[in-house]
Amino acid sequence: MSFYKERKLWNEKIETLSRDEIQALQLKRLKKQVAYNYHQSPFYRNKMDDVGIKPEDIGSFETFSKIPLMTKDEHRRAQQESIEKYGNPYTLMACAPKEKIVRINSTSGTTGMPTLYTLTQHDIDVVNEMHARKYWRAGIRPGDVMIQALSLSMFTGGLPLSQGIMHMGACVVPIGIEGGTKRVLDFIGLTSPVAIIATPSFGQYMIEKCPQLIGKDAKDLGLKWFFCAGEPGGGNPEVRKMLAQGFGAKVFDHTGGGHAFHGISCDEPPEQFSGMHFISEDHCLLELIDPNTKKSIKIEDDSTGEMVFTFLDWEGGPFMRYSLGDILQVSTKPCDCGMPGLRFRIIGRADDMLIIKGVNVYPEAVKTIVFKFRPKVTGFFRILLSKPGPLVEPPLNIQIEYDKSVPEADLPALEQKMLSMFKHEVRIAPQINWVPAETLPREMKKTSFIKIKGTNT
Ligand SMILES: [Zn+2]
Repeated sequence: MSFYKERKLWNEKIETLSRDEIQALQLKRLKKQVAYNYHQSPFYRNKMDDVGIKPEDIGSFETFSKIPLMTKDEHRRAQQESIEKYGNPYTLMACAPKEKIVRINSTSGTTGMPTLYTLTQHDIDVVNEMHARKYWRAGIRPGDVMIQALSLSMFTGGLPLSQGIMHMGACVVPIGIEGGTKRVLDFIGLTSPVAIIATPSFGQYMIEKCPQLIGKDAKDLGLKWFFCAGEPGGGNPEVRKMLAQGFGAKVFDHTGGGHAFHGISCDEPPEQFSGMHFISEDHCLLELIDPNTKKSIKIEDDSTGEMVFTFLDWEGGPFMRYSLGDILQVSTKPCDCGMPGLRFRIIGRADDMLIIKGVNVYPEAVKTIVFKFRPKVTGFFRILLSKPGPLVEPPLNIQIEYDKSVPEADLPALEQKMLSMFKHEVRIAPQINWVPAETLPREMKKTSFIKIKGTNT
């Protein structure tokens, strides 16, 4: 047992494969997967027949990229068609027979019909393996207690993530955030966890509320790991520092719920961030496309584009060239930690992108600047738009909370410094509207930084 616990990686054989070896494995699995999708599902067969590509034509990644993309809207339409034809939303796209499907998950989308995907026991084993790879790498071992403080409902970070933790032998307390902050804190008190999985915004909220709710600071909770998920802040050095100091914990950013795309950052100081290691390449092929033209972008160091993924060695609902709208920046350079493979940063969502005088701006870039001014600002802010983006009539209107310790007379000087940083780092000249601390809503689920005037969104 002690030898087992000393292993650095969960799956040493796969996690240490070279670039060439992993690509060879991907291509082998891709050919098999495309043939399977084609023969098992009318949805994929029609998609390929429409452009005259047969499974036996897939000899390279390049030929494969000629298959049309699948979008969330198309997914919803296919679900509707499936309901009409088969009486349920997934038979049209599911590749495995009904008897083999043991779980249906939904993506965390908040608008429109939820998009569902189906998993067989094999797929669940793959998901469990990916969660195990991530937490093992970060240093979690059997015997460690982890608090799961993300939404526990159909969101794929809920049940699948908890199961993955159990799979590697650690102990999960799936408390979720539905019961509120006090309940999470009560269970931390009762179960002595060493790690918490939560959104960075919830972490920030806990740091703020701990003294009031339980009479002690967040750093006295005994947590040694803070795993960020559900929103992109875990890659922001200022957010990382805030969480590391606030909890006295190591901060990791990680992603991946109940499907095949998973990544985790390295063990590194909070002021540093080298991106997340893409740890599931043996089950997920990544492509990048231009968010506007949808044309393929070559993956090389620093390439940025919209993520498109294809599940490999997957049975239930294997997505093929699916674009979910996340914008990634990829690193191919070897990482200081010595682990091979691609790394990525999630820099925003194609839907959240704003265009101001031809400059593409993601709310995450605004957050990075705002956080540089902590503790003079609380870190909470809102972008106010008069109509939905992406095109914004300048100036960009940003509400920013200033801290209680800052006298109003100091705000003009603070504003000048902030404007200068916006000019140099994001190339925009926003209009800053100061609001007192605790004015803006604190959301415990995913934080939306954009508010459209006159709406509730
Ligand atoms: Zn690394």
